[in-house]
Amino acid sequence: MMDITSLPALVLGNMIKNREISVVEATKAQLDAIKQREPFYHSYITVMEEEALSQATKVQKRIDAGELRKSALAGVPMAVKDNICTKGVRTTCASKMLHNFEPSYDATVIERLKQAGVIILGKTNMDEFAMGSTTEKSAFGASKNPWNISHVPGGSSGGSASVVAGEEAFFALGTDTGGSIRQPAGYCGIIGLKPTYGTVSRYGLIAYASSLDQIGPMGRNVSDCTAVLEVIAGHDEKDSTSIHRKELDFRKALIDDVKGMRIGVPKGYLDGELDDEIKDRLYSAVKIFRQKGAIVEEFDLEMIDYAVPAYYVIACAEASSNLSRFDGVKYGYRTPNYENLQELYEKSRSEGFGSEVKRRIMMGTLVLSESYYDAYYRKALKVRSLIKQNFKKAFENVDLILGPISPRTAPELGEKTQGTLQSYRSDIYTVSVNLAGLPAISFPCGRDKKGLPIGLQLIGKEFGEKDLIRAAYSFEQAVGYERPTTLREGIDIVNSQETQMHPNNKSQD
Ligand code: GLN
Repeated sequence: MMDITSLPALVLGNMIKNREISVVEATKAQLDAIKQREPFYHSYITVMEEEALSQATKVQKRIDAGELRKSALAGVPMAVKDNICTKGVRTTCASKMLHNFEPSYDATVIERLKQAGVIILGKTNMDEFAMGSTTEKSAFGASKNPWNISHVPGGSSGGSASVVAGEEAFFALGTDTGGSIRQPAGYCGIIGLKPTYGTVSRYGLIAYASSLDQIGPMGRNVSDCTAVLEVIAGHDEKDSTSIHRKELDFRKALIDDVKGMRIGVPKGYLDGELDDEIKDRLYSAVKIFRQKGAIVEEFDLEMIDYAVPAYYVIACAEASSNLSRFDGVKYGYRTPNYENLQELYEKSRSEGFGSEVKRRIMMGTLVLSESYYDAYYRKALKVRSLIKQNFKKAFENVDLILGPISPRTAPELGEKTQGTLQSYRSDIYTVSVNLAGLPAISFPCGRDKKGLPIGLQLIGKEFGEKDLIRAAYSFEQAVGYERPTTLREGIDIVNSQETQMHPNNKSQD
């Protein structure tokens, strides 16, 4: 029998259109796979079984009525990171603070996907409030990497990456504040696309750092991600930072041709902490792009060393302000024992937030305080504009920038070698893209000696998604897509990985 759940999203969409499979059949197949695999991957916080099936019946009716002819993804089941609001379905941000929060409205991206007839299967696991790089900061316990379940899937959109690689959804939405789409996509061997800031509405996204946050697609190939981007991109009057962009027909850029494209590789990305195996893959990618006719050259991108500190100052400052709304009164968790209002605030916040979130709120409050504002926050803003300028200068000579996503491949679950600062430093290749508001795409490029995927990223100029899509698509034609070994070899994962299974998924907070 054909393995429905391994199909690319657009292929399934086509089959649904041609009546080769019904929406309910596809949704049931995906829900069955989730039941079988979830005990091992733990990638969902909420699976919306009934809701998904009832959506499937409704969407089939719309298709039968000829309503969704233009929607390439009609009937395709997908997953949503749990910081994006879904009406009537709990949206937790993987935090005790919002463990029972049911939004009364859909985020704009969800509205648009529903309009396009997409089926939402559930909400995926993440680091609490999107702060982290492994999903181990989730109050619901860590997710596992489908390539090897003793390794993390990355973060913070680790659940979304894991459901896509582990074939528990045809595609997913993630969010990227400092790398959280690209890094988990890289760790799990899939594609992640972070759009130019303002391209996708943030209305209904529970904010971490508003000037950096951006929603984007995660999929098993470039075409799928591009089709999703077309659905979710576009101006939204409910988001004041949303931009009016013309030419959102991104699929026109799915062309296998990079002839004459100028790709720059920043020298600074190649030394220091970068693992040799990743460096090797980077060079092999350079070779492939050259063979296909691109012009690839090394160049100096300044300020690389300052990106991480500037990012953490700005992200924490914004987080401390954004998260002040969680006070035990308006939403979510409220402490059961309090004697006055002050105690209600204090205890609800101390008990509701995990330690990483508290650390960042404190750090953010400090850098915004009168005595430190100039020393830290203002300086970080200056660094941010210098980084922006440096990218601008670089893009006078190149169309795209090629680099690694992270200094190493997916660490083991619970690995203690990485302290907090070390883990912040591992965001070195991703955060500058968010500081500059640029688009970037991450894609797989082979595996390391442990068999774990190695990911690379291409960074584009502002509004340069089409160049990114074209180059990543062209690269994909040369290297193809690899399924996780366990799925590819048809091993019954329930039996083969039982011994590796972690008995309970406790938060490592
Ligand atoms: N790892 C980074 C952080 O912890 C990025 C997170 C993100 O993009 N949401 O802030």
